[in-house]
Amino acid sequence: MMAKSDDKGALTLPDKKNLETKNIEALCASKGMRMTEQRRVIARVLAAAADHPDVEELYKRCIKVDDRISISTVYRTVKLFEDAGIIERHDFREGRARYEQIPESHHDHLINLRTGDVIEFSSEEIERLQTEVARKLGYKLVDHRLELYAVPLDDKARR
Ligand SMILES: [Zn+2]
Repeated sequence: MMAKSDDKGALTLPDKKNLETKNIEALCASKGMRMTEQRRVIARVLAAAADHPDVEELYKRCIKVDDRISISTVYRTVKLFEDAGIIERHDFREGRARYEQIPESHHDHLINLRTGDVIEFSSEEIERLQTEVARKLGYKLVDHRLELYAVPLDDKARR
């Protein structure tokens, strides 16, 4: 059987590690934020994260660099970066917020309900469709969030 070349349409899976990551520290400085040593550590850990860590996970990574950092400092700093529009908060229905640096190019997320893994993708077709839906309703689309909650196709305990 011949595989259809358009199986995935224009689906793209961004590879963050290959993307030039913006320097969070430089972004903070450009916004006039006072950067303490601990904030710098948290900024670097966030910039290095290719996943979508929650505060607990960030804290674990930060104390490997500087064990004087407290979890409340991580909470406060993450909030500060979020308010400054440097990082984005996600709620993937797990009862905990997860963070990522605001990406250069837009992507959506698929959440594996079995493992909690988050897969990033972008689809030109979905983007086009959303713009079209908004337009039909009489609106100009300015932003959106899309999360797909899924289980693997070969999952035994199907939902
Ligand atoms: Zn993401």
